[in-house]
Amino acid sequence: RHQRDPLLQLEKINVSFDGFQALTDLSLTIGVGELRCVIGPNGAGKTTLMDVITGKTRPDSGRVLYDQDTDLNRLTPVQIAHAGIGRKFQKPTVFEALTVFDNLEIALKNDKSVWACLRARLDGEQQDRIDEVLKLLRLGGERGRKAGLLSHGQKQFLEIGMLLVQEPHLLLLDEPAAGMTDAETDYTAELFRSLAGKHSLMVVEHDMGFVETIADRVTVLHQGQVLAEGSLREVQADDRVIDVYLGR
Ligand code: ADP
Repeated sequence: RHQRDPLLQLEKINVSFDGFQALTDLSLTIGVGELRCVIGPNGAGKTTLMDVITGKTRPDSGRVLYDQDTDLNRLTPVQIAHAGIGRKFQKPTVFEALTVFDNLEIALKNDKSVWACLRARLDGEQQDRIDEVLKLLRLGGERGRKAGLLSHGQKQFLEIGMLLVQEPHLLLLDEPAAGMTDAETDYTAELFRSLAGKHSLMVVEHDMGFVETIADRVTVLHQGQVLAEGSLREVQADDRVIDVYLGR
């Protein structure tokens, strides 16, 4: 894979729910190693867009091409995850009663049964991968702690770690900095910039300050369509974007 080649191409996606058009002819391309922010008012279609990519929602029409020639519409959500697309929802969902390390181990082995995961031994390479992720997420000191005892921000980091041990090509993140302290938000921005290049990231975000610090390119959704795309500066200067945000 080469930097800037397309990794994910959505082509003229249409999604409707009981006659309500949630996405209309939506086309969007994410490049290899790109860090893209998706913004837009409530109801713009951001969640539906991620649901289409992960196979949770099937479009009425349009194609979702991954890695140039894989049609994601033909794969199940589990197959899509195995193809290297990881998603983080807004609220952290970690195994609260298990340790930080065990959470990462389960994510890495990714077996159906939690207990089967914990029984199977880790090989050296898997151990190293978990250690590396613990360090990257600044959770090294918490490895033996129950995940339920972590701060909200640390749980968010742990969940990002649970995606990273699976070595995804594309990370979909829904408001990853929500509820974080300023210091945690700053570190999240630094982390995403360091992950970009090796991974592609699509971040749905409301906090414009955060968007400004992380994104190369911003896509603005409105009423299920791409309203504008470009640098944050470019989209913020776009009259249609200003109208939507100021409700003119
Ligand atoms: P966003 O994430 O940008 O706030 P969504 O993708 O959640 O927007 O929703 C886009 C539109 O589609 C909204 O008007 C929402 O009410 C509608 N919608 C989303 N999911 C469903 C569903 N399962 N059934 C009916 N309408 C839905």
